[in-house]
Amino acid sequence: MTRYIFITGGVVSSLGKGLGSAALGALLQARGYKVRLCKLDPYLNVDPGTMSPFQHGEVYVTDDGAETDLDLGHYERFTGVPARKNDNITTGQVYTEVLAKERRGDYLGATIQVIPHITNEIKDFILEKEGTADFVLCEIGGTVGDIESLPFLEAIRQFGNEVGADRALFIHVTLLPYIPAAGELKTKPTQHSVKELMSYGIRPQILLCRADREITEDERGKIALFCNIAREKVIPALDVSSIYEVPLSYHDEGLDNQVMDSFGIKDVANLDLSIWDDIIARVKEPEGSVKIAIVGKYTNLADSYKSLNEALIHGGIANNVKVELKFIEAELFENEDPTPHLDGVNGILVPGGFGKRGTEGKIRAVQYAREKKIPYFGICLGMQMAIIEAARNLCGIKGATSSELEEGGEHIVGLMTEWEQDGKKRAGTEEELGGTMRLGAYPAHLVEGSKVAAIYGAQDISERHRHRYEVNIAYKDKLEGQGLKFSGLSPDGALPEIVEREDHPWFIGVQFHPELKSKPFDPHPLFVSFIKAAVDQGRLV
Ligand code: GLN
Repeated sequence: MTRYIFITGGVVSSLGKGLGSAALGALLQARGYKVRLCKLDPYLNVDPGTMSPFQHGEVYVTDDGAETDLDLGHYERFTGVPARKNDNITTGQVYTEVLAKERRGDYLGATIQVIPHITNEIKDFILEKEGTADFVLCEIGGTVGDIESLPFLEAIRQFGNEVGADRALFIHVTLLPYIPAAGELKTKPTQHSVKELMSYGIRPQILLCRADREITEDERGKIALFCNIAREKVIPALDVSSIYEVPLSYHDEGLDNQVMDSFGIKDVANLDLSIWDDIIARVKEPEGSVKIAIVGKYTNLADSYKSLNEALIHGGIANNVKVELKFIEAELFENEDPTPHLDGVNGILVPGGFGKRGTEGKIRAVQYAREKKIPYFGICLGMQMAIIEAARNLCGIKGATSSELEEGGEHIVGLMTEWEQDGKKRAGTEEELGGTMRLGAYPAHLVEGSKVAAIYGAQDISERHRHRYEVNIAYKDKLEGQGLKFSGLSPDGALPEIVEREDHPWFIGVQFHPELKSKPFDPHPLFVSFIKAAVDQGRLV
């Protein structure tokens, strides 16, 4: 029997609902249950693929090639369950589907309405998970009270009624703001938010109250009384220093016990939180620290590189060190020496990115790392920059560039269609930007004896991609002649997947996004190895 837990948010956005859902998923797993997490997003975009990272943070890519919300990254990082395309739905998708059915005549002449047609579509999305897990955790994006959330709230209300109270649980995440003049946490916004939710017919059984300081018993009692919720089901969710403390912190406050209680589940055997204890011990007591420069473009919004930041932290956890991230705008040194910005770092990482802005600075960062023998990790665009740098500065191809960046010059990186005339189209042409990216999991074969084969401990790997341009394999011999080895290729040998330098302590560029698959309890081997190289680099100076 599958049970459903719906997580809504009130008062303000950015309350950490996604993290809370992920942490609850991890706690249920620690009790031996199988979980599945999904997200209902009320925005109108069909998917976040077209949204700027400034607006919505990182786009998280699943194995099956969906561009989804970054909360799915939290879910996967905390539970290890690979996210799938059908773990995320948006208003845009719901309407696209309903309108397509209407055009096909599927509704047999009925008038199409929000209730029941839109709500049915949403319920179908949830019900499709039936039987796939013991608990399906369903996070509703947005804040209760938003106009656009209404069909989703109505759908989960109906769903709860249909499956019955013993199979559906509503958790509401709220904020208790601290007002210095009063010297106390305020409960009124929470009361109003619960009232709003009740006006839609949803009575939350558990409140997860975010606060920046301890919630007194008086305050807890007041919330319980006014919101008509048992005191022990008003769960304090205080700020913690590392997101990986959230599962243990919520457990200590009784969250998973109260979930069990709400469902009437008595069995509490098998609770094993040791992986989280272990992670926290390492996060809290590192043996040292390393400084990693991330030379990118969206550096003023930490969420735009969410998975990357986490994967670097995981690499630190594996090496027992704290990883200090230094975000550097590549644009700062497009025409000058990057030394003042990069001096003293133990590793340089150029992450994925789109468009020309900042790319000359990124190329300079690659050159600096290569010449100064600082560990270099190039991810997606970061690998393409490493290729262009080597082509320009080592192979003497002065005009080396990517067709994404310039029409002129020599395109070492470009669309497959630019050099393949046989109609075997992998990436699209420039006229059809949307949906032409290489998205999702693709296999790669690693060269025997290469550094990456040793790091992975395997020769056949699968990693997630999100890019439109490819390195032209025709330049392989020239670049390899200058020490940049093509150590990973697509199984047919047509697409370069990984490059590495043999004459350098750690210089690896990958066409995919390894950060998407890293977990604190199962850190990605490339990040473990990169941070280890950074630790070694630190020892040298
Ligand atoms: N802009 C590059 C491409 O489309 C790289 C994309 C990325 O870094 N994710 O190929």
